Amino acid sequence: MRLLIAMMKHETNTFSPVPTPLTRFGPSYSEKTGPGPLYGEAAVRAYRGTGSGLGAYLDLAERERAEIVLPIAAGAPPSRPVEDAAFEHIAGIICEAVQKGGYDGIMLDLHGAMVTESFEDGEGELLRRIRAIDPATPIAVSLDMHANLYDAMIDNATVVAGYRTYPHIDTYDTAKRAGEILLTAMRGEVRPVMAWGNAAMLPHVMRQGSDDHPNKELQARAAAMSTEGALCASLFTGFPHADITNAGLSAVVVTDGDRALAEKLRDELLDRAWADREDFVYRLEPLEQSLARAKALASSGPPHPGEGPIVLLDHYDNCASGGTMDTTAVLAAILREGLENVAAFAIYDPQAVQQAIAAGIGAEVSLSVGGKIAMPAIPGESRPVTVIGTVKTISNGRFRNKGPMGRGVLMDMGPSVVIDTGTVEIALISRHVEPNDLNCLLSLGIDPMQKRFVMLKSRIHWRAGLGRVAKAVVECAGMGVCTSEYSQLRFTNVRRPIYPLDLPNR
Ligand SMILES: [Zn+2]
Repeated sequence: MRLLIAMMKHETNTFSPVPTPLTRFGPSYSEKTGPGPLYGEAAVRAYRGTGSGLGAYLDLAERERAEIVLPIAAGAPPSRPVEDAAFEHIAGIICEAVQKGGYDGIMLDLHGAMVTESFEDGEGELLRRIRAIDPATPIAVSLDMHANLYDAMIDNATVVAGYRTYPHIDTYDTAKRAGEILLTAMRGEVRPVMAWGNAAMLPHVMRQGSDDHPNKELQARAAAMSTEGALCASLFTGFPHADITNAGLSAVVVTDGDRALAEKLRDELLDRAWADREDFVYRLEPLEQSLARAKALASSGPPHPGEGPIVLLDHYDNCASGGTMDTTAVLAAILREGLENVAAFAIYDPQAVQQAIAAGIGAEVSLSVGGKIAMPAIPGESRPVTVIGTVKTISNGRFRNKGPMGRGVLMDMGPSVVIDTGTVEIALISRHVEPNDLNCLLSLGIDPMQKRFVMLKSRIHWRAGLGRVAKAVVECAGMGVCTSEYSQLRFTNVRRPIYPLDLPNR
């Protein structure tokens, strides 16, 4: 058996100013090649044995004693549309491998919300090109729950499966599910057919957590469909910060040759989601009110042993949704309000990092931090904040995920420092990494359990690392291109009408 395995992942926030060149496609740092995709053996080494989608495909291949070809593993944190040159490079490498032929199956680990400078549907374009070269070899595709589906993705694949958890702690299980179905199809035991569709709704990301109503019940229902004749059913909450035709909620159901059943189950998922549409709407609290509430939640004196920190969630600026990670509204308010014993993760500011490194450990510094990246797609202006403190930590910014999310995968924050103001320890980083793993803090010498407050630039994924130990979470409306106010975004391409932009509670 011979398998072609590849990864191409990007969640595109069309409102983000953060560029997406090829060098961004390297969440897993390679000593040899630096930032950028990994190729061949280097990709196998980086992902084998990890809790990632590629890790699952590699395990399946090993179990089947299959020969593997893994031409490229390219994944970038969310940002603006992928540069054409980057997409052409990644798709080109995969298609070149397809061209060589001789495969029994193709297993792809994709995101499903990639927009490029030229294509609204990057994954559909990749699959269309693969199918044009090789019309027959079965293809398995594993997608993120934040996929925005298009016809081309479904028409040109054999089986498509999506994550059922957010935070995404089932990346491995999802690829395994897609891969197992593919293997049975390759043996001729099943003949997968797929039905997909979308609902005219943009669920808010802050309301998409799979531990919360309504997504919890929707995902449970999708999972249960495998006992009712579905090979696999997936409900995608979608990624709304993308002004493209098919942004929003969708579903795909795979059955063994039974199209009518696939359509019936798909419709049930879409109808249930539509009925829950109001519960996917996020309701805001003004920042001053949030911080006052946080202060009231904090007991006097140091945190009790094992109590855990109060998380101040700077969710407008989540880099895992395309945020610049350099807005300062929430940090500035924390400093202004005099909150004590705080850790802040993180401000993206390579320039300030270099200044702190030049000053050295223990040096007193005064830095102008953040507010350096213009965000023309949203109103207002993010300003730098002046931080005066001591350089506490200098790090190369690399760590391995503790899990449960992406367990074992090597992460790279770039050169990183911690500035201690006396009340707030502020992490400054040079590459975008969302705080979904405890090791992003621990690797910089910050123990969140010793902190009264931890400010995180995240939305839901922080729960994977800190969710179990946090005493409470206070959502802070700051500033950024992941704004929780749809009214701040100009949608011109998404299909209309769509809830909640046009259909207030019909
Ligand atoms: Zn996602």
